[in-house]
Amino acid sequence: MIRDDLNSKLKLSKEEMQQYGYKIIDHIVDHFETQNSKKPVTIASREEMDSLLTEQIPDQPTPANEVLDFVMNQIIPNSTIVSHPKSYSFVPGPSNYISVMADTIATGFNIFSGGWAASPAAAELEIVVMNWLLMVFGFPTKNGGGIFTSGGSMANLTALVTARRIKCGDDFSKAIIYLSDQAHSSNIKAIKVIGFKKEQIRIIPTDIEFKISLNKLKNIIARDRLEGLQPFCIIASAGTTNTGTVDPLHEIANICQEENLWMHVDGAYGGAAILANNGKKLLKGIERADSLTVDPHKWFFQPYEIGCLLVKDHRWLSNTFSEKPEYLRDIEGNESEINFYDHGIQLTRRFRALKFYMSLKTFGLKSFKKAIQYTIDLAEQTEAILRKSTCWEITSPATLAIINFRYHPIGKYLSEEELDHINQNISKKIVEAGEALLVTTVLQGQITLRMCLINPRTTIEDIKNTLIQCEIYGKEELVMTQKKYN
Ligand SMILES: *Cc1c(COP(=O)(O)O)cnc(C)c1O
Repeated sequence: MIRDDLNSKLKLSKEEMQQYGYKIIDHIVDHFETQNSKKPVTIASREEMDSLLTEQIPDQPTPANEVLDFVMNQIIPNSTIVSHPKSYSFVPGPSNYISVMADTIATGFNIFSGGWAASPAAAELEIVVMNWLLMVFGFPTKNGGGIFTSGGSMANLTALVTARRIKCGDDFSKAIIYLSDQAHSSNIKAIKVIGFKKEQIRIIPTDIEFKISLNKLKNIIARDRLEGLQPFCIIASAGTTNTGTVDPLHEIANICQEENLWMHVDGAYGGAAILANNGKKLLKGIERADSLTVDPHKWFFQPYEIGCLLVKDHRWLSNTFSEKPEYLRDIEGNESEINFYDHGIQLTRRFRALKFYMSLKTFGLKSFKKAIQYTIDLAEQTEAILRKSTCWEITSPATLAIINFRYHPIGKYLSEEELDHINQNISKKIVEAGEALLVTTVLQGQITLRMCLINPRTTIEDIKNTLIQCEIYGKEELVMTQKKYN
């Protein structure tokens, strides 16, 4: 076929497809091999990106290799490398090559993962991987269930829609939901999306360790009952994003049991730590949740997007989400042939289970356990290094691979404003230099540097080098601050 004919069918010749595909694989492998030597951070303004990328809608074709080269040279380099060993901020995305290829297969074959009839094996594989997760988290595999989502936010949303349906039915006008001031913002977003008013949300303060304050929680629930309101759900954090703190899960489960409330656990960040020894201890009680969010594209090393919701009873999901339009009649299976479109919000879904399946099977659960344990240990080693130094103070100790600290040399009087300023600028300088992605958070009103160390390819040497650089910037900032006094 001539070029125009191929183009009008959106096709390439066989040789073109092969050559194009191999070229992309080479780029991806090169990325995995060389990312350590690149700068993890890219900063670019809207103006710069506008001038680089804005163009008219292309009416005429462009040679495929030309478009690919443009992407590889201009777009990819202007993205932060979240799998870089010195990418310490937010929640990094360590990823892994097997899953990248698995995603390519899922997309290459364009597997529809919505209904049983369309792809029985894809549905079964989702059930299989879901059962593995149910077992890992101590949920019952007989009645338990769940669904893969685009991420933790969608899993939290799906959980809260389900909780509301099962606990409140159609009338949730008096329903009240409880979560701590350290709970992830996606929970509040979900609560708003499903139509709760501000007056129905109780943000409970946290204690000195950033755990939800149990006595305040109990008291507020009691007051709400007195006022004739309907407490219906507590959201507990199993690993807050700020500090890795786990709320007291058993105590919260007791309250939920006593008060007949839904217990949702947001383990999007920390859930994976159940595969590590000390993580398992910290997460005790997680098995008592009615619903649990975990996020494989974080600490289970999957590329974006895959989140996961687990529930104690899979019928809760179908009772909440099942709708029966006429055109889906013919693909209804029997009770056990699950249609995942009945278990969540999406109808057409990509085949997310495949990458989790292939990477778990290829590397083995044992390797995942080791990788997670390694990163928890890494944070503890980092804490030990910081504690030995005379210029750093720990603002929140290493917990589930997260550590917070700030520059404050012993014997230096510095006001809170000055400390905030110094630490903010350390972050600014290290990011601007492209040395590391290390940004700040705020804990108890103090600006603090935060490291989230879930990348198994980060070494203690990487961290030492970053800290040395931070210390140099800290000293510079200190000199500038002290000049002000003269
Ligand atoms: C990251 C995170 C989320 C949101 O997950 P996404 O995958 O980013 O949508 C929710 N809760 C916690 C605790 C998180 O760390």
